[in-house]
Amino acid sequence: MPYDWPERRDGPVPDTEVTLWAREQLVRRIERAEHISTRVARAMREVPRHVFVPADLLDRAYEDGPLPIGDGQTISQPTVVALMSDALQLQGNERILEIGTGSGYQAAVLSRLCADVQSLEVVEALADRARAALASVGYDNVQVHLRDGFFGMPELAPFDGVIITAAPAEVPVRLLEQLREGGRMVVPVGPVFGVQHLLVLRKHQGQVERTNLGPVRFVPMVGG
Ligand code: SAH
Repeated sequence: MPYDWPERRDGPVPDTEVTLWAREQLVRRIERAEHISTRVARAMREVPRHVFVPADLLDRAYEDGPLPIGDGQTISQPTVVALMSDALQLQGNERILEIGTGSGYQAAVLSRLCADVQSLEVVEALADRARAALASVGYDNVQVHLRDGFFGMPELAPFDGVIITAAPAEVPVRLLEQLREGGRMVVPVGPVFGVQHLLVLRKHQGQVERTNLGPVRFVPMVGG
């Protein structure tokens, strides 16, 4: 890093030359390595990831890796956030359901790409922190709900897209039911201590088309 990092403090840390520079380097690296749309790249440039990581890890916010966020959970690797966001192929007017709010970072990126994000989390402390972080950057088209994602949000279904950021052993059928015809679901599926695969499922004429984006490692989806 060419400069010192901003001071740790209680509230959200505003962007500085340093955070802007570090974020730009990160997004350029992702753009070189992966095929992501310009809209997704723009969202990754816009969202201050450092606001969503714990204060003691501030200086690692723009590394391309997962980081611990407390309660045994992690904020996803930026490249994975970019790829999952890209896989939803959002145009801007969609309503999205996210399972696993965690830090709120993935929801924040999605909020720049679609109309509305409903995000479900089972750990209360994480839901509270994510809400605070999202409010601090003014992203008011994300709602965080404390509830078990296996059941989804039938009262607001169908959704244009569903993204699951914890790994279930199998595709949760109830969530597939809450996806509209033509909509996409992005989900890492697989055993807790084995290889999970990042799947993109598209509902098309009553069938489910499946694309495998390759191996990934997520914390398990719990409950159900
Ligand atoms: N999207 C997050 C990463 C989340 S890590 C981010 O950008 O930071 C996975 C999260 O899924 C954890 O916070 C975990 O508590 C949550 N989770 C696990 N099982 C869940 C379930 N059944 N419903 C909702 N959230 C769940």
